Amino acid sequence: AFSPAARLGRIQPSPSTAAAARVRELKAEGRRILDLTVGEPDFDTPEHVKEAAIAAIRAGETKYTPVNGTPALREAIRGSLRRTHGIEYSDAEITVGGGGKQVIFLALMATVDAGDEVLVPAPYWVSYPDMVRANEGEPVIVATSAENRYKLTPEALEAAIGPRTTWLILNSPGNPSGAVYSEDELAALAAVLRRHPRVSVLSDEIYSEISFTGAPAPSLAAVAPDLRHRVLVVSGVSKSYAMTGWRLGYAAGDPALVKAINTLQSQTSSCPSSISQAAAAAALSGPQDFIARTVPVYAERRDAAVAGFSAIDGLEPLIPDGAFYLSVDCAGLIGRRTDDGRTLADDQDVTLYLLDRAGVAVIQGSAYGRSPFFRISFATDLGTLTAAVDAVAEAVAALR
Ligand code: PLP
Repeated sequence: AFSPAARLGRIQPSPSTAAAARVRELKAEGRRILDLTVGEPDFDTPEHVKEAAIAAIRAGETKYTPVNGTPALREAIRGSLRRTHGIEYSDAEITVGGGGKQVIFLALMATVDAGDEVLVPAPYWVSYPDMVRANEGEPVIVATSAENRYKLTPEALEAAIGPRTTWLILNSPGNPSGAVYSEDELAALAAVLRRHPRVSVLSDEIYSEISFTGAPAPSLAAVAPDLRHRVLVVSGVSKSYAMTGWRLGYAAGDPALVKAINTLQSQTSSCPSSISQAAAAAALSGPQDFIARTVPVYAERRDAAVAGFSAIDGLEPLIPDGAFYLSVDCAGLIGRRTDDGRTLADDQDVTLYLLDRAGVAVIQGSAYGRSPFFRISFATDLGTLTAAVDAVAEAVAALR
């Protein structure tokens, strides 16, 4: 019989994947669901990227590549980091993997010993704590506040660092908050980090170019160049180029850490798909008009979602500066009663009520370590979004 390893007992399936499965089930039962759970662009992968993949297949680029990716991809990644952040990375500082997710997992596996602590500011992307636990580390959840727009403050960072702290995970633009750290905010965190030389920073910048501030979200590696060897920048093509299914992510950082990640990569997947690598190289080094075209579309949807949810009594959206998520505070709904007499006790109840009564699928804040709120994704068309806002408004109006 199957006898799970202890490490499996420490983790759970990703709640966002679970939510997506629930939506598929309901749809299969014939229910019309307005799905705001999806963490991927609704746009198609750009045409020139698809063509590059097809050309790679035709040219026979269908074999194993170097563990750290093809030279063309590494060059394209270096060019992209230069373009967005003005940072010059050497070839030895770049590694690739099957999505940013895999790169983060391998980075933790390469560095975290049993009992080591990893600071995870909340709200956080659902996978961080479990990835830390899977590698026998201890996630230390650091609270943030609405006043600071759910960003980590230097004081909270200082207070959270202990003798076993190995990593701080920073995610900007953040999922689910959409918060973007300014250069000044990053500089203030850097000042704390300088006092704690054993702490490294895993800077998850997967949404860096989906930014509504007029520029890519700043990177700690650029703001504090003296700390650069302690910052692992993680990114990928999934979100910026609508390439979630291609599974291609990358990281840039200290060559010794990169080498360790490569060793693990060599013993797990050998390399990401050669075809996806060709596609990603085209995405990162080719014309960037896709980003220029899609970011304003996300911005328009964000504005519509913010306006729509703000107008609903009991809900308070946090205006995001990046990514394609909206965190909606639902404290005003807690304690209210549904027309069949149930009391909404927490954000899980709110989420179930919205699914049941409004046919709108969202994800409860508790999955992200912050309650009571829920996350919507606006990586969906404006029609679905406005229909969802209307349905939520009606469901909320029916509460007592
Ligand atoms: N980091 C954050 C914050 C994310 O939201 C995601 C995807 O949802 C990822 C990383 C991983 O993306 P991928 O593995 O597709 O590169």
